[in-house]
Amino acid sequence: MPDSLAPELPLRPDLVGEQPYGAPQLDVPHLLNVNENPYAPPAEVIEDIATSVAAAAAGLNRYPDRDFRDLRAELAAYLERESGASGLTADHLWAANGSNEVMLHLLQAFGGPGRAVMSFGPTYSMYPEYARDSHTHWVEGSRRPDYSLDPDATIAHIAQVRPAVVLLASPNNPTGTALPLADVRAIADACATTGPDGAATILVVDEAYAEFRRKGTPSALSVLADYPHMAVARTMSKAFALAGARVGYLAAAPRLVDCLRIVRLPYHLSAVTQAVARAALRHTDALQAQVTQLRAERDACVTWLRDQGFTVADTDANFVLFGPFEDRHAVWQGLLDRGVLIRETGPKQYLRVSIGTVDQMAAFRGALKEVTGR
Ligand code: PMP
Repeated sequence: MPDSLAPELPLRPDLVGEQPYGAPQLDVPHLLNVNENPYAPPAEVIEDIATSVAAAAAGLNRYPDRDFRDLRAELAAYLERESGASGLTADHLWAANGSNEVMLHLLQAFGGPGRAVMSFGPTYSMYPEYARDSHTHWVEGSRRPDYSLDPDATIAHIAQVRPAVVLLASPNNPTGTALPLADVRAIADACATTGPDGAATILVVDEAYAEFRRKGTPSALSVLADYPHMAVARTMSKAFALAGARVGYLAAAPRLVDCLRIVRLPYHLSAVTQAVARAALRHTDALQAQVTQLRAERDACVTWLRDQGFTVADTDANFVLFGPFEDRHAVWQGLLDRGVLIRETGPKQYLRVSIGTVDQMAAFRGALKEVTGR
């Protein structure tokens, strides 16, 4: 049918002019733009994943385990080991196709028309999209100039808006800023009474990058047991080097998890995904073998950028926000022309680079020197 005869499609008015979310996916040697782990799974892990997927394939005529209790129990065990938290069981865990979907479930269950979701910018640019897609009003508060949260101002703003959900990324994307545990506690205490109609506000601590945190930065999981209205979201996309598998999860009180079970689509986590995730969890140490090295590379990158005279945010994640640039797009393009893809995101004069292999970081430094003439 020629375009001129195409019928009008009844796209929701609030979606007219919207673009699909996503950074450019380009075929260049140094992909440092979406905070992936640059190390592919080792051979023994690939083999176990392949065997596990073959076993799952034999049953693909049947729907998968809708409640994926084995995977949830194994994720609970991993989180206890990783964070030192105790008392986590399958009932405390939830999972979906990436932590993006986990957080969408939170908004579907607790947001909605007449309700608000808040976060504090600059922060993860998908958050307003969860709000839009769940018809929840989006309110963005602010951070201090160093991107930390001012707990008193944050609590006052939450008390004024009375949101159903607050999303706090720690470490925050795109700045790398971690939230001190005392601030998590103070905000969680306040959230107990700031929700709609006298209810609590659901406080979501998004710890997608938690495994990269520096020593002495505890996970919010260590206080989760005290807060029935708190959820801590994690992902296998970053430290686990499993972005392609699409597995995200959260821990929360079983009553909160039961609310999410209402809104999930039936069988949302495929048998193949469950098999891959469970195989990966058997090889946590091998998959996360480079996390220590990535942390060291990150700290070296921060030091090097500061030595070059850039302003660099303190970071507990596997990426670094740096600048300022008069024309950040020109710098981004100059790096791309040299085979290095980074991200134009966050404050207007800043760029974000994900931490890659030793060779990739050398390529990044070389290209940035050429482009900026420093
Ligand atoms: N939270 C934050 C802060 C992120 O940066 C990302 C990915 N960029 C996610 C959540 C979602 O990751 P995934 O859906 O791959 O788990």
